Amino acid sequence: MKSLTDLTFDNRFARLGDAFSTAVLPEPIAEPQLVVASHAAMTLLDLDPAQVDEPMFAQLFAGHKLWSTAEPRAMVYSGHQFGSYNPRLGDGRGLLLGEVVNAAGQHWDLHLKGAGQTPYSRSGDGRAVLRSSIREFLASEALFALGIPSSRALCVVGSSTPVWRERQESAAMVLRLAPSHVRFGHFEYFYYTKQPEQLQALAEHLLACHFPDCREQAEPYGAMFTRIVERNAELIAYWQAYGFCHGVMNSDNMSILSITFDFGPYAFLDDFDAQHICNHSDDTGRYSFSNQVPIAHWNLSALAQALTPLVEVEALRASLGLFLPLYQAHYLDLMRRRLGLLNAEDSDQALVERLLQLMQGSAVDYNLFFRRLGEQPVDIALASLRDEFVDLAGFDQWAADYSIRAASSDDNQTERRARMHAVNPLYVLRNYLAQQAIEAAEQGDYGPVRELHAVLSRPFEEQPGMQRYAERPPQWGKHLEISCSS
Ligand code: AMP
Ligand code: MG
Repeated sequence: MKSLTDLTFDNRFARLGDAFSTAVLPEPIAEPQLVVASHAAMTLLDLDPAQVDEPMFAQLFAGHKLWSTAEPRAMVYSGHQFGSYNPRLGDGRGLLLGEVVNAAGQHWDLHLKGAGQTPYSRSGDGRAVLRSSIREFLASEALFALGIPSSRALCVVGSSTPVWRERQESAAMVLRLAPSHVRFGHFEYFYYTKQPEQLQALAEHLLACHFPDCREQAEPYGAMFTRIVERNAELIAYWQAYGFCHGVMNSDNMSILSITFDFGPYAFLDDFDAQHICNHSDDTGRYSFSNQVPIAHWNLSALAQALTPLVEVEALRASLGLFLPLYQAHYLDLMRRRLGLLNAEDSDQALVERLLQLMQGSAVDYNLFFRRLGEQPVDIALASLRDEFVDLAGFDQWAADYSIRAASSDDNQTERRARMHAVNPLYVLRNYLAQQAIEAAEQGDYGPVRELHAVLSRPFEEQPGMQRYAERPPQWGKHLEISCSS
């Protein structure tokens, strides 16, 4: 176990040079206070959990101190925002501090979000507010605990530095961890600014650091794109199966590693609603829950366009063609598991689609449905869930078909319950739970955000005394309005 001062840096992205990023120092925030930290994320850096009690911890992650071997850089990228190309984005309020190498030899980017202005800040103040920092922290760690690929979060540090949004708020920083912070938009930037050498250097960097097995293939860049398509299909299948709505699927928010990335107005579905729009600024519903699948394909096409100088168009097209069938296969696989089915049958897709149609408009809590389905034997569970549905005849038909399918996964209820509870969370990061924790933190009480984080780090296990986190949201909690950057 290491102390904060023992971290070893190897800054591979910084070494790509000034065409890729600009050296910028963090601007500290005043009177830093540790709001919440993730011990699980600390272990990625081999950090001793006791280090959170060191005064240096909050100072480092509030920009007051810096490792001598860190090389803070603001990365340049561009991207398609709500379908329109924006030629110049980049780290406007975050810095890649450097890459820490752990004992296993893995590199982890340390990215400090809210670290002040950079050449890419445009008119922004370079800051992040406490509420958005807490939301990013909670979601990163909650998704990880659910087994959904995601960037991670080490901690949130709050401060007394004022920030103006719709009202005065306080600045905070969140320390994000990921093996890479390269986005689809990085490639788009070099493509649209006609810098083919940099485009290739970026691809080489990724091959060397993140896709080493693709390097061995006959067409390494094409193989890398295929891998990105495959991993994206898997990621989006997780989002759809677990009711996660990202909210801002701009191509600059899409990780090249296909991990959930850049948390804004995200939401987990409470009541099932295929058309749910979690981003209050998304007037047309471009990023609605069910649109996430075609939008992921759209973003991959935008990336493919940027790769045309490196890969034959026909090969790119063939790889893109893999997305939908792969997505569908992963999604069905996850849904079968959520339904407790052990084997696959051709009718499963229809079984899942019919269930979602019945849930639509019935105000059925999406994630609790699966938990309750596994809690009791099939017939008892179905009888108790029946009241939740508006179309009772439709539900009865579905329940009859599901019972037959469940019987073919012939095991006893103890095994079935354990199997289903292992994939169906009891605790979900609901918007209203995050909101309550944020309101307490804004008053200086960090207990609720720490408790919520602790509960969500073991989402499948029933935790004594934590029943309130497993309940359905109150009516007010279903309609919180959350918009883009803050
Ligand atoms: P986001 O909506 O967080 O994905 O951000 C989109 C772009 O706006 C990125 O280039 C961000 O770095 C930039 N940005 C967002 N908020 C701010 C801010 N407060 N100050 C400067 N740049 C920002
Ligand atoms: Mg972003």
